[in-house]
Amino acid sequence: MKKVEELIIWLRQAGYGYKRIARTLNITMDEVKRTCGENDGESLSGECKQCYTSITSIKGKKRKQFCSDRCRWDYWNSINKR
Ligand SMILES: [Zn+2]
Repeated sequence: MKKVEELIIWLRQAGYGYKRIARTLNITMDEVKRTCGENDGESLSGECKQCYTSITSIKGKKRKQFCSDRCRWDYWNSINKR
């Protein structure tokens, strides 16, 4: 990931609006929107396959499928039993 994109995401998480981020980093709002669109979207949120709790994954990391090790364990156990 490029440095600017990291800053955009970081500022976004700090609660900055698109306009403010654009001004702070001296880039266009379209660039901010594009970067945020890729990172704010579904890639960052999902739900646990086992208990359906909503999960927010950490940026840059692989999207999580379970809220906890316990749920992952229960899920695979129930699949193996079928
Ligand atoms: Zn769960």
